[in-house]
Amino acid sequence: MTTEEIMGFPVDVLTYDDVINDLPNYLQTDKKMSAISVNPQIIVEGQSQVEIYKFIKESTHRIPDGIGVVLVSKLMGGQIKERVAGIELMIRFLEYANVHQKSIFLYGAKPEVVSDAAAQIKKDYPNLILSGTIDGYTTSSEKEIVAEINQAKPDFLFVALGFPKQEEWLARNIDRLDASVFQDVGGSFDVLSGHVKRAPQFFIDVHLEWLYRSLTDFKRFKRILQLPVFVIKSLWWKVRTRNDKKNS
Ligand code: UDP
Repeated sequence: MTTEEIMGFPVDVLTYDDVINDLPNYLQTDKKMSAISVNPQIIVEGQSQVEIYKFIKESTHRIPDGIGVVLVSKLMGGQIKERVAGIELMIRFLEYANVHQKSIFLYGAKPEVVSDAAAQIKKDYPNLILSGTIDGYTTSSEKEIVAEINQAKPDFLFVALGFPKQEEWLARNIDRLDASVFQDVGGSFDVLSGHVKRAPQFFIDVHLEWLYRSLTDFKRFKRILQLPVFVIKSLWWKVRTRNDKKNS
């Protein structure tokens, strides 16, 4: 697998199929897959957060989950051709779990959101095993949450606490969690539960759901506005490190 670097952050050159084809290497062994979204926000804000940087560096699949990442790769002559969106990858994992009768655990989001997401997933993927849910506002301690997940021993653990909480939580706990595949999924439970509307089918089909959501959600719209700054910063970082290497 080829890895590129954007402002010092590793991003892997991979597609949905690459990640799915890799699943047996983890589900049939005791190795852990961590499929973690790398997007402009993580790269920029993660610059000063050592734990997050270290976690991403050590993750097995750093997915290019942002149009900014794809754009910067293209401008730097890299090989990342298209975005691998976290929510779409989660759906691919659910399809796999359904076909292979694997178990999943959902951790995060508001209590009614995670329970509605679980009900919808069970309806859409009746052959997967839903081994448990915990909402993201529980008063249980971190130790209790880990114990509950470990008792369920899920194949897939989806963590939806938003950035940076979900990455920090995974970084602290992944070594003591009894699961095979880990994914940080942001607001995906909100979408899968129907609490946040999905984009019209056309946008989903042409892989532009992110654009629809960016145009209809102010928080996401602001991220689009930050895109040019991210691109300039990344290119500047590249020029600077190239010059530093030449001069050393
Ligand atoms: N969340 C949570 N616990 C918290 C903070 C956030 O469970 O303490 C959930 C929140 O309810 C939402 C998700 O984390 O379901 C974050 O969604 P957001 O859209 O902000 O994440 P993004 O997709 O932008 O990373």
